[in-house]
Amino acid sequence: MSEQSQLRHVKLDTSLKSFSKLWNMFMQTKDRIEKNDKVVAKWRNFPPEIIYTLGGTPYDLLLHEGLATTTTRDVKSIGYAIEAGLSADSCPWNLTAAAGILPRKNSAPINMFLAAAGQCDISAKSWQIMSRNTGKPLYSMEIPAFHARSEKRSISFIEGELLSLFERLGRRLGRQYSESRLRNEIKRGNRIRSLLLDLTALLSHRRSVMTSLEYFLTNVTAGDYLQDPDHLASSLTEIKNEVEARSKEGESPHGILDDPIRIYYLGMAPQDLRLWNIIDSSGGSLVGCDTYLSLFSRLIPESGAILREFARWIWMMPHHMPSIDRAKALIQFVKQQKPDAIIIGNVIGCRNLSSSDRIVKETLREELGIPITSIEFGSSDEDVPLLEPQIRAFVEMCR
Ligand code: SF4
Repeated sequence: MSEQSQLRHVKLDTSLKSFSKLWNMFMQTKDRIEKNDKVVAKWRNFPPEIIYTLGGTPYDLLLHEGLATTTTRDVKSIGYAIEAGLSADSCPWNLTAAAGILPRKNSAPINMFLAAAGQCDISAKSWQIMSRNTGKPLYSMEIPAFHARSEKRSISFIEGELLSLFERLGRRLGRQYSESRLRNEIKRGNRIRSLLLDLTALLSHRRSVMTSLEYFLTNVTAGDYLQDPDHLASSLTEIKNEVEARSKEGESPHGILDDPIRIYYLGMAPQDLRLWNIIDSSGGSLVGCDTYLSLFSRLIPESGAILREFARWIWMMPHHMPSIDRAKALIQFVKQQKPDAIIIGNVIGCRNLSSSDRIVKETLREELGIPITSIEFGSSDEDVPLLEPQIRAFVEMCR
């Protein structure tokens, strides 16, 4: 564990013993993917159940290719991604993913790409480029934006899209869709959701029980359940038990103040994990984060017409909502965590949050009346360390 964490210049909380199992799952992801011939690259907030139902292996491509390159960024490969057609202004997550996949062409460990129209246009474009250059097929699904008045039509539309996707993907993966398979995968996914919600609830207590980095890393497992939901559930259960015991004993992790400024983080995170260490060392503590929240903010109903329930759940994922609706939907989660302050992260090259940053900020400030700051970062290794004075001053100001 220490070797890998040094590689990224990040400090893990070694006193949280159960975390090493989860960290190993992260580190072994690439090996696992190399040995698998049913790997489906997906965007972070695309529900992994769709792929598991057909016996495929979901791979949160941006996460794994992006986090792994924090200190080993290969400038030549990024140039290669730009030559292949990706704009140099694209967000760093897409640039590093394309840089990791494109040079490998036929030997890329991805068997197909899965995009969702309307989720992230830059990812949709980079998926197309990767598909074209590696010769691996690209499948897509359209998800209409949330609008309360179009519920019936939108849900029927998503059901149709899901069935069509199941048929096309199923042919390629050699497994048919069935309601019972989908229900079973939803149950496995819900187990992870429950655990992430339980961990989040533990952070709503006044005393800090988990460091920011460890909490963020548990959240990102929602992207693909780290390719084995059952194994992940056992790891998250161990973490939850240990954190719960800490909470009962009134212990805080080493390096966190007894009374830190409670921070809720909104937006896409930087690839550089040092951000989470900086929040802690500045006297703050992460108590909630919405980067992957869409995937676990609510359980998917397991009974009734399963496809319809699943379609409804997808339609109501917060990141499908227009800015104002999304801000309103987020308010209840933010409030539950009782934060003292909010940090909004903006990734250079991302249009999804940056363009609506002001609206989101104003809606939250009006509703919650707590200090909010925005930070911005790109792909340079210097970006996050340069944010330290701003975060430190912000935390100080909140005291
Ligand atoms: S940072 Fe923005 S552009 Fe990049 S993958 Fe995330 S949502 Fe898409």
